[in-house]
Amino acid sequence: MSEKITPRSQDYARWYTEVIQRSELADYAPVRGCMVIRPYGFALWENIKEGLDRRFKETGHVNAYFPLFIPMSFLQREAEHVEGFAPELAVVTHGGGKELEEPLVVRPTSETMVGEMYAKWIQSYRDLPLLINQWSNVVRWEKRPRLFLRTTEFLWQEGHTAHATREEAEEETLRMLDVYADFAETDAAIPVIKGRKSQTEKFAGAVASYSIEAMMGNGWALQAGTSHFLGQNFAKAFDITYLDENNSLQHCWTTSWGVSTRMEGAVIMAHGDDQGLILPPRLAPIQVIIVPIWRDDEERSVVMEAVDRVKDALDGVRYQVDAREELSPGWKFNEWELKGVPVRIEIGPRDVKKEQVVLARRDMPGRPGKSFVPMAGLAGQVNELLATIQQALYDRALAFREENTVDASNYDEVRAAVDGQFVRAYWCGDPADEDKLKADTSATSRCFLIEEEIEPGVCAICGKPATERAIFARAY
Ligand SMILES: [Zn+2]
Repeated sequence: MSEKITPRSQDYARWYTEVIQRSELADYAPVRGCMVIRPYGFALWENIKEGLDRRFKETGHVNAYFPLFIPMSFLQREAEHVEGFAPELAVVTHGGGKELEEPLVVRPTSETMVGEMYAKWIQSYRDLPLLINQWSNVVRWEKRPRLFLRTTEFLWQEGHTAHATREEAEEETLRMLDVYADFAETDAAIPVIKGRKSQTEKFAGAVASYSIEAMMGNGWALQAGTSHFLGQNFAKAFDITYLDENNSLQHCWTTSWGVSTRMEGAVIMAHGDDQGLILPPRLAPIQVIIVPIWRDDEERSVVMEAVDRVKDALDGVRYQVDAREELSPGWKFNEWELKGVPVRIEIGPRDVKKEQVVLARRDMPGRPGKSFVPMAGLAGQVNELLATIQQALYDRALAFREENTVDASNYDEVRAAVDGQFVRAYWCGDPADEDKLKADTSATSRCFLIEEEIEPGVCAICGKPATERAIFARAY
C-alpha cells in the first residue's frame, strides 16, 4: 500500500488498471486477452448477478443453459450475424485427437443455438411467449484487451425470447432495456441514457438494438447493456414457427439482451477516485469494514468486546472486522479505501468509554465524512448512511454527466466538444456521418435519444433534415 496509485488526471487508463489489480478485483491471465476474476471481483459480480436475476424473474423469465459449442453452419444461416462475428470467432477443429467433420464455434453469443432449440420447442401459440435467460461465458477474440471492458472470454447473461407478434417482441425489447436501466441506476448508482443504436453500431442480425449508455470519470461513454429486437431474422433462419389460433403457420418474433462483466468496469470508472474504488453499497461485497484500534493487550480486550457488540448490531449488513495485529490502523484505512468499502467503523478505547464509534464515509474522504455515533441505535445509523451514500454516488455521477454534456448544432461544435464529453445533436443517421466523425475524432454515435419528443431539425454533421437527436462520444 506504500506506493500511490497513478492519479486519474495523469493517466486514466493506467489508473484503471492499477485500481483493478491492487484492489484485487482481477488479474491478467497467462493467455493474452483473458482475465482472472479474483474473489473480490467475483463477489462484486455475484451481487450484480443477483440484482439482475431477481429483476428477470420478476418480469417472468426463467434460467436455462445452452451448450458452449455451436456448429459453424448455424452461424452461417443468418448472413449478417456471421459476417459481424466472423473476425472474433474461436473455432474448434479438433476433438478427441481427430479432426472434426464440422468445425465448432465457441459461442460468441447464443442466438443460433437458442434458435435451433426454440424451433423444436415451439409448436403453437400456446407455447408463447417463451422467456429464457442464461448465465454463461462467451468468447470473442479480442485484439486490444482491457480488463473487464474487452476480454476474449467474459461472463454475462443473455436473454432470448420468442413472441407471437411484432408488438409483443418490441415491447419485450424495451422492457428489458428498462430493467437494465433500473438496475444500473438503483443498484450500481450509475445514471444511464437509454437509446437506440445506429445502423453501424447495432447487433449483427438485429432489426434494432437499444443500449444503456453511462458516462465514465473521464467523460467517455460505456455501453453497459444492450437489448435487441431481432424481428423475424433468426426465426426465418432457424424456422421458429407456431400455429396461430386459426391453425395457420407463422414465424415468431424474437429478442435478445445482455449485460456482462463489463458492468464492473462501469462501476469502477463511474465512481472511483485517486484513492481507488468507491463501491455503491448495494453492490459492495463488504459494506462496512470495522477497524479496532488499540495499543496494548488490555485495550485490545476492551475494544474487541465492543466490536462484538457492534457485530451483533449489524445483523443484515455485509461487514468484516480487520483485527490483523501486524498492521497499523492507518495502513488498514488505506487498504479498505482502495477496495472501495463504503463505510468504515473505527473503535478505540476512548470510543468504548464514551459508548460510541466513528463512522467514516468512503465517498467523502477526511473530516467531513466522519461522524461520532452512539453504540445504541448503531444499526439504524449504519443502514441510513449506506442509503445516503448510495444516493450521493448516483447524484454525483448524474451531476458530472450533466456538467459534461453539451449541445452542438454544427460539425465544428461536435468535433470540438466530443473528446471527454457527451455531445447531444440532431443526426440524420447516415453511416457516412459516423464514419467521418470517427476518422476525425475517434468518437462514435452512442445512441439516438428515444425518450424525447422534439421538433424536426437539421443534422449537425451533414446538414440534411433530421428528426432525432443522438449522443456522440468517445467510447470504451
Ligand atoms: Zn447527417
